[in-house]
Amino acid sequence: MIHELPVLPYSTEALQKAISSKTMEFHYGKHHQTYVNNLNNLIKGTKFEDASLETIILEADGAIFNNGAQVWNHTFYFMSFSPTGGGEPSGQLLELIKKQFGSISEFKEKFSQAAISLFGSGWAWLVLRPDGSLDIVQESNAGNPLRSGHKPLLTFDVWEHAYYLDYQNRRADYVSALWNIVDWGTVESRLSK
Ligand code: MN
Repeated sequence: MIHELPVLPYSTEALQKAISSKTMEFHYGKHHQTYVNNLNNLIKGTKFEDASLETIILEADGAIFNNGAQVWNHTFYFMSFSPTGGGEPSGQLLELIKKQFGSISEFKEKFSQAAISLFGSGWAWLVLRPDGSLDIVQESNAGNPLRSGHKPLLTFDVWEHAYYLDYQNRRADYVSALWNIVDWGTVESRLSK
């Protein structure tokens, strides 16, 4: 099976209140595309040739895991945003966040800290645990919480390539800006997927 770069439901200029078109052109157009290309080359002739990305994340190691997980993680990340995003979650997601973290602002603070304090390259995740509660986890490099049995709901990419063109070393400013584009409807829909 040939993996493909997903088509995004917005233009490269659309997220400018947090992510510039230049960053989109590199992060989506070059980095994400390269993970797709690398994966397609690596799986040829292996048992993962026809495997889904989820199977690759759960079962592969080394370069196939790294590139497969990075394809999945980036698609999930880019699909979490919308030019009309921001604001606050509602419905079941709002109730779960209040139950786990006290309030939306306390949740955002904790999630932001997880993203800012992650050493090196990686991802901060909001996940649904098997017991139905929420958690915030940090994953290094290509790490993905599916591997720990968690359901991913939201992720912030904190590899430097995600923010360096726009924010240089100011990772905290990038993290803060991302809240302005989070598509909470998409995040909530992931609870039941
Ligand atoms: Mn990235």
